Amino acid sequence: MLLIYTGGTIGMVQNPKTGAHEPLNFEHLMSHVPELAELKVAVSTTQFCKPIDSSNMNPQHWCDIARIIVDNYDSYEGFVVLHGTDTMAYTASALSYMLENLDKPVIFTGSQLPIGVLRTDGKENLISSIEIAAARDRAGFPMVPEVCVYFQTYLFRGNRSKKLSAEEFKAFRSPNYPQLANIGVHISYAHHHIHHPDRTLGLRPHFDFCSDVTFLKLFPGITPQTVHAILSIPNLKGVVLESYGAGNAMTEEWFLQEIREAVARGIVIVNVSQCATGMVEMSIYDTGNQLIEAGVVSGGDLTAEAAVTKLMFLLGEGHTPKQVGDLMLVPIAGEVSPTQSENLKPRL
Ligand code: ASP
Repeated sequence: MLLIYTGGTIGMVQNPKTGAHEPLNFEHLMSHVPELAELKVAVSTTQFCKPIDSSNMNPQHWCDIARIIVDNYDSYEGFVVLHGTDTMAYTASALSYMLENLDKPVIFTGSQLPIGVLRTDGKENLISSIEIAAARDRAGFPMVPEVCVYFQTYLFRGNRSKKLSAEEFKAFRSPNYPQLANIGVHISYAHHHIHHPDRTLGLRPHFDFCSDVTFLKLFPGITPQTVHAILSIPNLKGVVLESYGAGNAMTEEWFLQEIREAVARGIVIVNVSQCATGMVEMSIYDTGNQLIEAGVVSGGDLTAEAAVTKLMFLLGEGHTPKQVGDLMLVPIAGEVSPTQSENLKPRL
């Protein structure tokens, strides 16, 4: 099992002068978990040259993590990635798209309190993640051959996960997909929710992302200037439109005109809901239907994190805007539920 330390609160200590948490090195972290020696799992470790707060993560770091996994793929049965919680859902989503045909566990975890703190949640997260990464089914195959997030008794599919609390130990949820395992006295796996790849295919990594994307979050009173400024960003190729409810937006002509013009310029606009659960179904209301007509594509039940990273991934792969739009509802790694594709519907 390979443990990859990228940074985050789990390995931080408090700066005595400022009181702020700062990343420390791996030896420090390991010295606080002597229990690791008792695990019946051989754990090798590696770390980023400079551990970082996950607020500083970017696609280059995603590639660095993927590169470590790819280079060590044949030598280890599973991988645990220690990562800050703030952007863990983005990194886990990105990695799930990058590691095509993954057939080994890649478990992301971190903590809300540093591992050196008495009440830390980090120890349990780390030890359970290692156990999950090492777990095998009766046939000897990895129990969870997916990119996952483990946090305080729950195992989630990484690209379905979301950090919902800055305070609670149970900080993550997977609003639109069931947990892959619950950890109590026993680890109970939800086998029918776990994706099992075709093991004959072999890992096929991808490393290209396009960062010419942005979010456009609607709110009552958003001005034409704001929408225009966002959609006029030079080289913009993709937008995650965070709309209301089942994918609704205002029907004012200035707004629809901005959207139409952006789509005509080749910008892919993907509609996700500001609601934490449920999915975008633009055809339910006129306010959504007008978006379909304007050329907006549905993001179904994608989380915002999974949507923006998928957009970056598909654009990075060199797909045309039409292809990217069509692929948004086609699962790459179980990030979106199968729906009747609104994206493939003929324009009205
Ligand atoms: N700011 C930290 C990070 O994301 C928070 C954490 O790890 O929980 O790196």
